[in-house]
Amino acid sequence: MSQNVNTNLIDLRDLLDLLRRHPLATPFNLALYSERQGKAGLIDPVLAVCRPVAGQKLCTQQCLQQWEDLISLALLSDRPQIRICAKGFIGFALPLPADDRIPDCLIGGGIRERLTATTADSPTGEETPPGQDDQRPLPAATREETRQIAEEVARLLPQLLEQKLHDLSLARVTERLTATREIVRELWRCASAGEAVALVSEALVVLFDLPRVLLLLRQTGRRPTIHSSLGIEPGSFEVAEGPLAEMLEQAGGLPFALSGDELTSFLPGVKGRSALLFPLQESSRGIGLLAVLDVDLHQRDQALIELLAGRLATRLLRLRQDEELHQERHFSARLVSMISTLALAESREELFNGLLNMSAELADATSGSLMLFDEHSQNLHIAVAKGMSPPLARSMAVPIGEGIAGRVARNGFPLLVNDIERDSRVATPNRPRFRTKSFISIPLKDQERLVGVLNLADKRDDTSFTEADLNLVHSFTNQAVLMIDRAAVLERAVQLEKLSITDPLTGLYNRRFLENRLEEERSRSQRQMQSFSVILADLDNFKLYNDICGHLAGDKALRKAAMLMKRAAREMDLVVRYGGEEFCLILPNTSKKESLFVAERLRRSIEGDIFPGETNLPLGRLTISLGVAAYPEDADAIHDLIHAADLALYRAKDLGRNRTVFYDPSLARNQHAARLHEDH
Ligand code: GH3
Ligand code: MG
Ligand code: MG
Repeated sequence: MSQNVNTNLIDLRDLLDLLRRHPLATPFNLALYSERQGKAGLIDPVLAVCRPVAGQKLCTQQCLQQWEDLISLALLSDRPQIRICAKGFIGFALPLPADDRIPDCLIGGGIRERLTATTADSPTGEETPPGQDDQRPLPAATREETRQIAEEVARLLPQLLEQKLHDLSLARVTERLTATREIVRELWRCASAGEAVALVSEALVVLFDLPRVLLLLRQTGRRPTIHSSLGIEPGSFEVAEGPLAEMLEQAGGLPFALSGDELTSFLPGVKGRSALLFPLQESSRGIGLLAVLDVDLHQRDQALIELLAGRLATRLLRLRQDEELHQERHFSARLVSMISTLALAESREELFNGLLNMSAELADATSGSLMLFDEHSQNLHIAVAKGMSPPLARSMAVPIGEGIAGRVARNGFPLLVNDIERDSRVATPNRPRFRTKSFISIPLKDQERLVGVLNLADKRDDTSFTEADLNLVHSFTNQAVLMIDRAAVLERAVQLEKLSITDPLTGLYNRRFLENRLEEERSRSQRQMQSFSVILADLDNFKLYNDICGHLAGDKALRKAAMLMKRAAREMDLVVRYGGEEFCLILPNTSKKESLFVAERLRRSIEGDIFPGETNLPLGRLTISLGVAAYPEDADAIHDLIHAADLALYRAKDLGRNRTVFYDPSLARNQHAARLHEDH
């Protein structure tokens, strides 16, 4: 027998295929056996030979022993050996050329023994096998015919191996390479992980004749998922993340074999002798394992499967990245819309409520609170709360460094707790107002400045919050915290604005505000074709009052006069401190005639009230003089209108004070005289 066979490319399945196609061997069921498979390894080849005629099991226990004896004999004698079993079937064992890379023995069977040679030299006479109901006739042959066939096959074998096997293997290699390339190309067209996995498992079964294939895929935060080809009941077993990660780590990206106890402990519930495992890995990211069960793979197929596993890993990772990107985009869009909604908040209250509710929505939390840091007291106060009674929320003040929120505020790092009672960082009994033991607490910081703390609790489905929940809410609050600050600035601006338009002594609006309002009033009146009046009022002899009673009493008197005038004016009228002891009133939608009533009521209210020390004044009382002008009859422009009222006021002073004077055009002619008075 030739030892020069190039077995580098021999695949046992190719070898069997070749033998099965040989015309002489055609009627037999064939299988290969290597002594190194041991006695336990004999059962599969024997079943392959006998099962088609004997059914699911071997007919008798002795049968296996008899096969073993037959094979031993064949190997020892280096010649084909024949046996007839108890059921009357012929079997043979044929030693193969000695070569480490191919099995030791070919066994064949499934031919019924025919006692006489009816057709001289071919085993074509057929009989119905005993106990078989399908009546399919089985080939039959005599012992002698079988011996001749076996010897002929043995004689032809070296030649067969040398010539045809090589060609056949090459053809197979080419075929599988082409198909593999096709599958790799197809992989990139798969739009989902499920599709990619299905494509590869199907290819493995069909293309490489693999009976049982398993795909274990790692999932973030979940158990690995299992995909299996036919032959393994899906859901019949589970693999935990820990052992899978460990296996991948140990494998270091290379295929490895598992058998016996190792296999059963890794894949409990999977019945198999051995498994070849291919890591699904790209650079150092192991995402799963491809397991091929109960097959001795040829080196060349192993390389191809390794390649497929690598490509599958790359594709799956890419699909995952796409998915993450999609999620991220989706989240970014949601974030943008949330932030722009927040930006519309008209008050701090609304902003805080929005911030808390949106955060809760992101993490699916049903309760929570937003605490603000008060720099003055160094405490956190609940600004808004969800799922907590408002009085309780208002009463809570948490010092920095105390309690969970206080510690988060001090450390400046977000906290995710799965079980409040077990987490060593918090380890406090769960408070009765919370339903679940998991919560999130996030410090709200603007740069390094602490603004507050956001707390979320009680996930809607009663599960624990996840790292993903925390990250989601954290990125949201990072944006939203800027809004809190903006709200504070806005609020301060409103206060400043208010400060800048009110007079601190009297609390009335100041002249700056008046100018805007007058312009507004003018255009409104113009549009609606209405008139409005302006009154300028000036306390009489107030310099003297100050001189007699002192400046402080003067201030008091000014405050009182302001209050009296505000009271005497109508709801719709606007009272402004115009300067020192001068006031200006805008009377919207009021004609000159109607304004007389208001002006006189003002005058009388000052005249009638008691001011300390007023008896020393020339008129014996503190009084006021008023000048009135109206739009549009006295003037069109604001400046002219005020000027007209001013002229009227000076006229009132001229006429002896404590009176109201309406502007009339003759006053303008005496303007020169008025100016003289001003200088005086
Ligand atoms: P007339 O009747 O002509 O208006 O005489 P008058 O003394 O009121 O007029 P004048 O304009 O000469 O003096 C205004 C005085 O009002 C000057 C100032 O002492 C006093 N005054 C103005 N603003 C204040 C203020 O804020 N507090 C006090 N206490 N006095 C003020
Ligand atoms: Mg005065
Ligand atoms: Mg004055």
